[in-house]
Amino acid sequence: MKAENWRAEILCVGTELLLGDIVNTNARELSAALKGLGVGVYWHSVVGDNPDRLRRAAEIARSRANLIITTGGLGPTYDDLTKETICSVFGVPLALREEEAEKIREYFRSTGRAMPENNLRQAMLPENCTVFSNGNGTAPGFAFEAAGTTVILLPGPPREMRLMLETGVIPYLRRRTDEVLFSRDIRIFGLGESSVEARLHEYMESLTNPTLAPYAGTAEVRLRVTAMAPDAAAAEAMTRPVVERVRAELGDLVYAVDEPSLEALCLRLLKEKGLTFAAAESCTGGLIAKRITDIPGASAVFMGGVVSYTNLVKAEVLGVPKEALKTFGAVSAETAGAMAEGVRARCGADLAVSVTGCAGPDPDERGTPVGTGFVGFSAPDVSLVKPIQMGRDREWGRIYAASTAFDLIRRYLTGCLSV
Ligand code: ATP
Ligand code: MG
Repeated sequence: MKAENWRAEILCVGTELLLGDIVNTNARELSAALKGLGVGVYWHSVVGDNPDRLRRAAEIARSRANLIITTGGLGPTYDDLTKETICSVFGVPLALREEEAEKIREYFRSTGRAMPENNLRQAMLPENCTVFSNGNGTAPGFAFEAAGTTVILLPGPPREMRLMLETGVIPYLRRRTDEVLFSRDIRIFGLGESSVEARLHEYMESLTNPTLAPYAGTAEVRLRVTAMAPDAAAAEAMTRPVVERVRAELGDLVYAVDEPSLEALCLRLLKEKGLTFAAAESCTGGLIAKRITDIPGASAVFMGGVVSYTNLVKAEVLGVPKEALKTFGAVSAETAGAMAEGVRARCGADLAVSVTGCAGPDPDERGTPVGTGFVGFSAPDVSLVKPIQMGRDREWGRIYAASTAFDLIRRYLTGCLSV
């Protein structure tokens, strides 16, 4: 079947979902995986651990979807009714599968616990089903087909569901789908999502395969190009002209394609050039240091940093001239520039960045408006300060400021540094 002909419904079973005790992360993860396969998810539904309502929900799903994926209620306890109920709706009888029964017995043997007899209920499966073994628990998942509908039942615990999805369900659906999907992730920094859309709107609208669509990034914009073709090489080739067109339109605002983040790109570029950097951070409070050290291998390029939250630390540790602090204030281009110079010298780094800003909620003592910020950059051959607007959302503003610092490093290393 072609991916575009699937109409999927995700049916999550569990009273705790309805009560608001837990978030339905399974539905989100399943949807994301199906999107990656080009399978359209048309409905999400949630029903409690009640056989009558589950039966009704399954009947509704059967009437409108040709791919139904359930999660939850596959365990051994009395309230785990999903398998019996769903299989009865589809008229599919269950029988004990000896090899699954043995796996469950083996699981209990290996954990040294006695197996309660009702665990063998989990080995009761439809005759012609595809079994997905459970790498993180006992209940197997499985898929069967009945009257033109493919039904997949998965356990509720997210660790179990996720592993089974990756190792069993995605390969199973790939085998059943004639076409492959290939995506590229275009990363843009320095332009808002609506501006990106405005500049590419007509082009996006004109595309059907491949498609070009924006998707959420924090303080940056991501565009996903997705092509569907009989094989991966053909799909990959179809994405190339779209990437080129976006690059032509947005120029160096595109910082990378298929790179996980600005900091990952900086790490790679710095490593390639054998350069190091340091960071002086005021309102970002160490976020630059955190983001770079989140990535393994950061020690090759990151010398360290100073969280200079007070004027005392800016002056005493970084050597920002007290005169500059007095005349221009902590949130100023002069201070940002001196912070970057200071941290570069003190950390013995090739390059340095700095951030100072007013993250709010209140203006600082000089009346600097919330959201005013400055990002400094210092290298042996060039130094500059970029004024930024961090907005009124503290969290967003700090991420944006840290990203700006990484973007200045990226621009310096790729020869397109400008304010
Ligand atoms: P078990 O063998 O643990 O009983 P099960 O397949 O019967 O597994 P449930 O009993 O329905 O699954 O759920 C087990 C636990 O998994 C729940 O208490 C909940 O913490 C989590 N869970 C269930 N459904 C979801 C969901 N849709 N999203 C996130 N977590 C979920
Ligand atoms: Mg259960």
